[in-house]
Amino acid sequence: MGKSDIGPPDFRKMLPPVIKKNYGKWKYHEIIKPGVLKHVSETGDEVWTVRAGSPRLVSVDFIRDLCDVADKYCDGHLRFTSRYNIELMTPEKENVEPLIEAVNKLGLPVGGTGKSISNIVHTQGWAHCHSAATDSSGLVKAIMDELYPYFTSMNLPARVRVALACCINMCGAVHCSDIAIVGIHTKPPKVDNSKLSAMCEIPTTMAACPTGAIRKSPDPNVKGLVVNDEKCMYCGNCFTVCPAMPLADAEGDGVAIYVGGKVSNARSAPMFSRLAIPYLPNNPPRWPEAVSAIKNIVEVYAKNARQEERMGEWIERIGWETFFKLTGIEFTEHHIDDFTHAVETYRTTTQFRW
Ligand code: SF4
Ligand code: SF4
Repeated sequence: MGKSDIGPPDFRKMLPPVIKKNYGKWKYHEIIKPGVLKHVSETGDEVWTVRAGSPRLVSVDFIRDLCDVADKYCDGHLRFTSRYNIELMTPEKENVEPLIEAVNKLGLPVGGTGKSISNIVHTQGWAHCHSAATDSSGLVKAIMDELYPYFTSMNLPARVRVALACCINMCGAVHCSDIAIVGIHTKPPKVDNSKLSAMCEIPTTMAACPTGAIRKSPDPNVKGLVVNDEKCMYCGNCFTVCPAMPLADAEGDGVAIYVGGKVSNARSAPMFSRLAIPYLPNNPPRWPEAVSAIKNIVEVYAKNARQEERMGEWIERIGWETFFKLTGIEFTEHHIDDFTHAVETYRTTTQFRW
């Protein structure tokens, strides 16, 4: 394959030798204990994997420490999963315990396999993105500190995937996780017309609004824009093209909690997560309201769901009314999807219907 500067390098170049040798020949795998997997090939080869949780924002020193562990036990190979777990893979069974010791020494927990809560996939948050309505790393740290025992054990009815997106652009793919935390703005953008004409292109900004809420100022003396508060859904599209329309608001910004999404096509079709709690305030540094709401949902699910039942499957079986009753979450008018295009999302499935 020719060399290209577009996209990531070919993954095959980076496979550990034992994986390359047995590509397409893996027969089965088992979970030996929380965080340790064993894959067996038709050729008789084995691969042992130690999975550890990691923060998403890491330093160069941290990565060097990880590479030292990989050099020592894994022939210089390591991989990050899409939920920021670190997987250290070795063909040698006797490397497993030293590997666990080495990652524990770095302060990392081993777990996140099977019926556990794996690491939380999340977006940039206040550290980086301009349209964040909540933080990512800070909130995720507060949640995982509380849910930590579910990472290092496998006592839940099924796996629970948690995701966080710090605005409704949702680059964290929260629509398909068992529990999803979404940052939301609740106030329209504040238009700064003194900067707008210098910073933004007026027609592009108006065209960026999906609900047509942005109009030219009706005041002939003001060169700029106005927002119709009634039509605004606080999506932040306008701010992306026009920095003179910031949405961030210390009082109004907060999080919504969605539940019941999954990617898996096993037993039932993949599911989109649905709204459980419309709004909880941002309360840094530990977000106690959001953390206790999520813990409550996990505990009620753990107590009531059947074995192998994912969060969404459990809710579908008992009914949403019972879900609200069991969790003590209030049902409000915000739970009713009355968006213009809602009808397209009422029923969605990857499976055929006749
Ligand atoms: S979810 Fe929104 S605010 Fe967060 S990183 Fe993505 S685009 Fe930025
Ligand atoms: S936040 Fe969204 S809906 Fe509101 S004015 Fe901007 S683009 Fe329109």
